[in-house]
Amino acid sequence: MISYVEAIEHFEPVIGLEVHVELGTASKMFCGCATTFGAEPNSQVCPTCLGLPGSLPVMNGAAVESAIRIGLALGCDIAGWCRFARKNYFYPDMPKNFQTSQYDEPIAFEGATDVVLADGETVRIEIERAHMEEDTGKSLHVGGATGRIHGASHSLVDYNRAGIPLVEIVTKPVIGPDAQAPEVARAYVAHLRELLLALGVSDVRMEQGSLRCDANVSLRPRSGGPDQPLGTRTETKNVNSLRSVERAVRHEICRQAELLLAGGSVTLETRHWHEDTGVTTPGRSKEQAEDYRYFPEPDLVPVAPSPQWVDHLRQTLPEPPGERRARLAAQWGFSELEMRDTVGAGALELVESTVACGASPQSARKWWLAELSRRARAEGVELADLPVSPQQVAELQGLVDGGRVNDQLARQVLDGVLAGEGSPEQVVTDRGLEVVSDDGALTAAVDQAIADHPDVAAKVRDGKIAASGALIGAVMKQLRGQADAARVRELVLQRLT
Ligand code: ADP
Ligand code: MG
Ligand code: ZN
Repeated sequence: MISYVEAIEHFEPVIGLEVHVELGTASKMFCGCATTFGAEPNSQVCPTCLGLPGSLPVMNGAAVESAIRIGLALGCDIAGWCRFARKNYFYPDMPKNFQTSQYDEPIAFEGATDVVLADGETVRIEIERAHMEEDTGKSLHVGGATGRIHGASHSLVDYNRAGIPLVEIVTKPVIGPDAQAPEVARAYVAHLRELLLALGVSDVRMEQGSLRCDANVSLRPRSGGPDQPLGTRTETKNVNSLRSVERAVRHEICRQAELLLAGGSVTLETRHWHEDTGVTTPGRSKEQAEDYRYFPEPDLVPVAPSPQWVDHLRQTLPEPPGERRARLAAQWGFSELEMRDTVGAGALELVESTVACGASPQSARKWWLAELSRRARAEGVELADLPVSPQQVAELQGLVDGGRVNDQLARQVLDGVLAGEGSPEQVVTDRGLEVVSDDGALTAAVDQAIADHPDVAAKVRDGKIAASGALIGAVMKQLRGQADAARVRELVLQRLT
C-alpha cells in the first residue's frame, strides 16, 4: 500500500460522516418497551416492535424532543411539519419488513457546527440533516470464525434493539481539511459525543453501539483543479471508536489512491472496517440504487412542533461545549494543553464533579488523568465506568491534603475502593493505612534505623546529608510506608546534626 504522504501528493480527500445516535429514552420510539442495554435477548419486545399484524405505533414524545434539541444544538432549522416514511426492505433483524424512518422530510436540516482540532484550529462542518428513525434488531452469527454470516452454522436474532429511537446526523461533503481529513473526521465525532453528552440525550457509548459512525471518503486528483466534481465515494460502516474513525479514513484514502494511480476506479459501495488488521473490505455495492419504495407512514400523525415549543427548547439548550470548556479552563486555571488532555481522556465531567466535591482542580485532574486512566486502560473500561465516584476521589485527596495518607498509601486506599471495600475512610480504617504521625513512634523507628546502620549514621554526622536517604528509607520500610517522609527526614537530621 502506498504511503499517506504519497496519496495526498496526488489527491485531495473529501469526507462525509453519517452518525447514528441511540437516544437514551426510557422506552422505544413507537411502543412502550424498555430500552435497557444488555437485557436478556428478546425480553424487551411487544407486538408493535415485532411488527405483528394489527399492532399500531405511537410516537415517543421524548424522542422527538431530543431530536429537536440535537438539531438546534447543531444550528439546524427545525421543520414546522414533517412525516415519517416506510423504508421497505426485508432483513431478518427487521421484523416489520420496513424501517420507520424520515426520508425527504427530516425534523432538522441545514446546520453547521465548529469543531476544534488538537492544534487549536477550528473547522466548520456543515450539517445536511438530522432525522429520526428506529433501530433494527441485532443478528448474531454463530459457529464461524469471524462472527459474520459467511461460514456460520446458524444465526440468532435479538429484537430488544428493534424500535429503539435513533437520530441520524449527516454532514455535507467536507472539502476544506484536505490532508487533515482523517483527524477532522475523528475530531468531529468526538465533538458530537461531547455535544450529545451535554444535551443528555444519549449515553454515546461507541463500544456499545449507542454512537455509530459511517465514514464516506472520496478522492479528487490534484491535477483536476478545485472546480472538478467530487470523486466516487465509499462508505465504511459502523466504525466503533474514535481512533478507528481516523484510521479507517486514512486507510481508505491510501487504498483509493493506490487503486486510482494504478489506473483503476473506485466502486460506489459500503465497506467493512477491520479493527485488528486496520483495513477495509468490500460490503454491499451501491452502484445500483436499491428501491426502498418509500412512502409516508399512514399509521403515524405528522410531527408539527409549535414555534413556542421549539423556542423554549432553543432557550434551554446547555452551554455549547466549546464555551463550557473555555469557562472551566479559566475557572480551574488549566493551560490549553491540560484542558485538551482532560477532554481527550473523557475526564471533563469527572474532574468537574470531583472539584464540586471539594478537591482542587489540579489534584482532581491528576487523579483522573494519571492513576485512574492507567487503571481504566489496564481493565479495558471507560474512565467513567471505574467503580469509584468523584465524591470518593475528592475524599481520597482530602486524606492526602490532611496528611493522613501519603501518595503511596493513597494508591493503596484507591485499590481498596476499587475492590469494593467502601469509602476511602472505611478502607483506611479496615486496612490500617493511616500514616504514623505520632512523633513518639516515629522517633523510635528513627533511633532503630540509626542503631541498625551505624556507618551511615556516622557519615550523616560528618556532614554528608545526602547519606540520610538510606536512613529515611529504612524508617519507611520499618513503618511499611506509613509515614510522612518529610517528617522522617526532619527527625533523622535532628538526631544526627
Ligand atoms: P446514503 O444513504 O448512501 O448513506 P447519505 O446521503 O445518507 O447517503 O449520506 C452520504 C454521506 O456521504 C453524506 O455525509 C455526504 O455528505 C457524503 N458524501 C456524498 N458524496 C460524497 C463524496 N463524493 N465524497 C465524500 N463524501 C460524500
Ligand atoms: Mg445514510
Ligand atoms: Zn415494543
